[in-house]
Amino acid sequence: MLKIVLDYDGTLTAEELQVEEVARRSLLELAEEILHVSLEEVEAAYQKTRARLLAAPHEHHWEVDSARVSYCDEGAFILNTVTMQTMLSGNPAYTDAVAARFPNAEYDVVATCTNHLFHTHTALLAATFRPAAPDTLRWLIAQPQVEPLVLTNSLNDKVSGNLARLSLSSIRVLGDTRQYELDPDWTPPFNNGEPFLIVDELHTIDLRRRIYHEALAHERADGSRLAVVADTLSLPGALPLADGIPFALLRTSYTPDWCVAYVERCPLGEVLNDLADLPVWVNQI
Ligand SMILES: [Mg+2]
Repeated sequence: MLKIVLDYDGTLTAEELQVEEVARRSLLELAEEILHVSLEEVEAAYQKTRARLLAAPHEHHWEVDSARVSYCDEGAFILNTVTMQTMLSGNPAYTDAVAARFPNAEYDVVATCTNHLFHTHTALLAATFRPAAPDTLRWLIAQPQVEPLVLTNSLNDKVSGNLARLSLSSIRVLGDTRQYELDPDWTPPFNNGEPFLIVDELHTIDLRRRIYHEALAHERADGSRLAVVADTLSLPGALPLADGIPFALLRTSYTPDWCVAYVERCPLGEVLNDLADLPVWVNQI
């Protein structure tokens, strides 16, 4: 069996069309229920922070427990999350208010808050699937030696509920894979035990994503081959590439050139300009 692991947000869905609504709802909750300041104030702080990030994107990251889990410019949702995170951690009054709202934070309080905002406000959206998503999934399902799996950091119900709208036979969801969770005490059993993947002179990706690795290893345990398809590199793509698993990067309107250049250089990498090109790649791996 060849299992094709398809990232959900941004790969099957057009997150660039959803991000504005996610940001709007998140800022409203922040203003009214967490920070207790005016919406105008939070919106201005958000726009100012976003412009600062985009001026030097390699210097700004999505951080969880002080570790860099993604560069800010890799995806539309990631840029939104990093903007929220940088805005909240850069203002002591905001950080205090966040700490008061999340007294039992699972990660650091700001990451817990941005995770909460992301999960809450993407769960409410009816997904905007990419035009090629239904036919591509249908094609994968129809191949006798192929099983599509949908990969997400979100909980299964958001993804399963939206996939059900496509009226396909059921597709397994690999949910809560926590690609953003790093285990600093874990030595990757690949990449010669090196914890970092050097992408270029400005970008280095931490591979110590133990829970994500366990999820992939579990799918390989029955002897299946795997391939991963996603719209971003650090979270879903770097680990498979370093672990000998073919990886296709879907190039979207927000995909940065440095991600494309790296994947094009990798023997196991492929850049897809459209999700509709996936079957051609699947047939050759
Ligand atoms: Mg994605």
